[in-house]
Amino acid sequence: MSQPLLMIPGPIELEPAVAAAAARPPLGHLDPELVAMFSRALGGLREVFRAPDGQPFVVAGSGTLAMEMGVANLIERGDRAVVVDSGYFSARMATLLERHGAQVRRVGAGLGDLPTLAEVEAALSSGPARVLTITHVDTSTGVLAPVRELAALGARHGALVVVDGICSVAAEPLEMQAWGVDLVLTASQKALGAPPGLAIVMAGPRAMAALGARRTPVASYYADFGEWLPIMQAYEARKAAYFATPATTLVAALDAAVASVIAEGLPARWARHGRIAAAMNAAWSALSLRPLPRRPELAAHTLSALYYPEGVDAQLVGRIRDQGVVVAGGLHPEARARYFRVGHMGATGEPEIRRTVAAVARALGQPEQPAVAAAIRALRG
Ligand code: PMP
Repeated sequence: MSQPLLMIPGPIELEPAVAAAAARPPLGHLDPELVAMFSRALGGLREVFRAPDGQPFVVAGSGTLAMEMGVANLIERGDRAVVVDSGYFSARMATLLERHGAQVRRVGAGLGDLPTLAEVEAALSSGPARVLTITHVDTSTGVLAPVRELAALGARHGALVVVDGICSVAAEPLEMQAWGVDLVLTASQKALGAPPGLAIVMAGPRAMAALGARRTPVASYYADFGEWLPIMQAYEARKAAYFATPATTLVAALDAAVASVIAEGLPARWARHGRIAAAMNAAWSALSLRPLPRRPELAAHTLSALYYPEGVDAQLVGRIRDQGVVVAGGLHPEARARYFRVGHMGATGEPEIRRTVAAVARALGQPEQPAVAAAIRALRG
């Protein structure tokens, strides 16, 4: 039986070359072929993050481990942290910061919205903050944060700027070095287009210097950059080294995925995600589905978060699946039962857009043709 089309905001459908890499029997972590793949993937990630001076870390674990690595290495007990709160995953960042001893100030603006730059600046001005954290795309709400502007504020106030790019890297424009972002973290299963299972962190020079200036040891052994740095440096230099067994199959898949992102080119990939989002939005508007982000400029290009129409509930997700497409339910605790989410990143193209829009329309009991036609018109610009 063929699998339904996976259109949740991660994991996503794999390109054939990535699926083939993931389907091979595992290579040993000292195998020269694995070493070459790891080296290429690490170097490629610098391009993907636009961080020529960044230090990549690729470790077995999910995105939450990448968040914890960032926090564990940058935060010491008593440090202040300002969290730009745009939903469930920003709240998770605040929880992680608190767990590692930070005094956290959350600056939010309610469901589907973002605080103003002035509100974030006021929080940064109220006392020196060690870090400013930004969730580039909060996957619970589909809210997209203006990283460039927020990062400039953080830098002006002497905070290290940390970006959760789990639902944005390789899809939303992000220029780590040029925008002065100190640490970006992501995971393999989203717009990078690899299977789930790798935590990926890019640390800029100020983040690495902060690590060297710590007064106390990093409280987590597995998450300690200091343990992983020689390993990452060795693999990049095409030498094997061991600290903890790498997920070799996933590294092979990541190598293929990163190669595909680089072959497409970052600006072209960002623009393609913009067109896909425009196509999806045209379809949702034809189906009278209201987005959760409060204003169009707040809406991410990697997923759509949509309120159920009057008289429709979470059973819609099951009915869409019956039409052969998997979408996700709501996640934000304030509105979990009132909306659903459709991921559209990575290899999504016209056939996937057609199938997804048609499935949603049929599940809603609406004609599919006008919505599909609106999407394709928008896609072709
Ligand atoms: N942050 C964001 C923005 C996410 O989308 C996710 C996963 N949906 C996470 C953090 C947590 O990542 P993971 O589920 O891979 O641990």
